[in-house]
Amino acid sequence: MADGRVGNTLFMQERLGNATANASGQALTRWMAKEQFKREKHLPANARPHYREDDNLNVGPPDRPAGAPAVLARPAKDYFNLDRKAQLDATKGGNELLECMRRLGLAPEAYFKLARLPLDLNHRARMRGAHNGQGINDEVRPLSAGLSACKPWRTLAQAAPPADQRPRLAVRFGAADLNQRFQRLDDEQRLRDVQHLSLAGDWHWMWHEFGHVLNYASFGEMEFRFAHSAGDALGAIQLDREWQRLNPDAPLNHAARFNSYPDVPLPRRHDRQAEAGWCWCGRRSMVRLTGLSLQPNRRLGYFEEQLASSALFRLYRSLGGDTPDLCRSASAHVTCLVLKAIALLGPDSTVPAYSADHFVSALIDADLGLQTDKVLGLSAGRACKVIRWAFEAQGLYATDDPGEVAEGVGKPPPVDLYIGDRRRTTAPDGGYHPVPLAWSDDGSADWIADGQAVRRNGHRLSITVRNRGHIAAGETTVDAWVWHPMDGWLPPRHAVLTTVPGVDGSRHGESVVQMDLPSELPPRSWILVAAGCDADPHFTLPTPMPTPASSDLAALRRLVAYDNNVALALV
Ligand SMILES: [Zn+2]
Repeated sequence: MADGRVGNTLFMQERLGNATANASGQALTRWMAKEQFKREKHLPANARPHYREDDNLNVGPPDRPAGAPAVLARPAKDYFNLDRKAQLDATKGGNELLECMRRLGLAPEAYFKLARLPLDLNHRARMRGAHNGQGINDEVRPLSAGLSACKPWRTLAQAAPPADQRPRLAVRFGAADLNQRFQRLDDEQRLRDVQHLSLAGDWHWMWHEFGHVLNYASFGEMEFRFAHSAGDALGAIQLDREWQRLNPDAPLNHAARFNSYPDVPLPRRHDRQAEAGWCWCGRRSMVRLTGLSLQPNRRLGYFEEQLASSALFRLYRSLGGDTPDLCRSASAHVTCLVLKAIALLGPDSTVPAYSADHFVSALIDADLGLQTDKVLGLSAGRACKVIRWAFEAQGLYATDDPGEVAEGVGKPPPVDLYIGDRRRTTAPDGGYHPVPLAWSDDGSADWIADGQAVRRNGHRLSITVRNRGHIAAGETTVDAWVWHPMDGWLPPRHAVLTTVPGVDGSRHGESVVQMDLPSELPPRSWILVAAGCDADPHFTLPTPMPTPASSDLAALRRLVAYDNNVALALV
């Protein structure tokens, strides 16, 4: 019976976040605990607890015996506060982080440069303002025996320098619901009903703390210099697919999708708009304006955290997060970029990241390093233009002067060629505004070229190349491939434009080029167009090129949607 059902319930419960915040979560907790109790009654007294799922992961320092747990969930000593559910939640979460890294080709042992594994997951941790661990809060702390400046060493072992001096990291969890453990206990059955409900059951919160773990492991500080962390973004991007699965009928811009902590009264969101003052160069971005970013150990940056999570969630959506068959790979792609970018931010002595644009550069470097990635396939190494745009739309690059206040969205690169598509937004053309990247046989999808940008007149094709930047593009080549139902992609036709003026120029940033089409071409044919100049080349097109006739159109959709220099039109 129940194995599957119990597993499922646990899964659902984790997704409910603060499970006791609603009646169904409460009932699930009770039912799950009873099932667990019934099953355990049949086990021999010395049976190993079945909820430990970490045995077969063998990560951490090489001297650890094979099969030792990758994460240590530390149980409470206090008999009246059973931590079984808390242990299960924390262990699942800790393993999920390490497994997620492995899935993305990142070995945790190599990633943890300045801290060592295993992670220590701590329940009902004493925290400021909640010394009995009865607080709704989490934190991450480095553990280093004998390194404290104010406590004397108690044993010789503490005094001797350890072979590996890197600290281990403790993720310290408070409670998700303070009332859960204060129920009166009468008998064994009742006792099992009042499992301590740890914040480890809320995966959004868990990913937030993992953001700090990744930071410390990479550059020795819990927080970025320019924002609190990327933890809210990681949680939002990792758990969005589950939100879509649970809310199949909700519109993709539903307000609940952008709540960074569902069921928790925390006003943190990842859909903040630059036009509403949520921008990197605006007057509310105090970390930038006060120069606090240059001081280590700050304790602020939740405003900037939301700028980072909004920009990264926008990136995820633009890479396919709103498209059912692409959202899994988009989520993996952005998670991989964030993890790698954090790894690229060295400690002060190497590559400090003082500002958000340093972080964007690290994301772009991380993407370029993915060129031949097996996990992400063709999309690897093609996200850098969308990365830049996602932060530009959050107000980065609005000014070059670090002391100047500039509200609203940022400026495009000096030269940014594009071929207009059908996205209808209030923002200027040529960006990567999130739209579903679904295929449409009739060429009506939003990411497909605008009817004005690629036009056919009999056997003549005219292509309008535009420039978002304020500097004129130099010599621009335009290539067009025509799809023939029998012969596939025909060899490309070329044309050269001497310039495409900047937006401030005489022709408002556009130039038109004309070329001949094959005389026997049937009406309604697919045409792929790519424009590029030295300052803004288009991505190298793969050989063989993905075709509109293939059963897997993901490659062709990504090729077009990730690069505004490339367009697909049905003319
Ligand atoms: Zn935090």
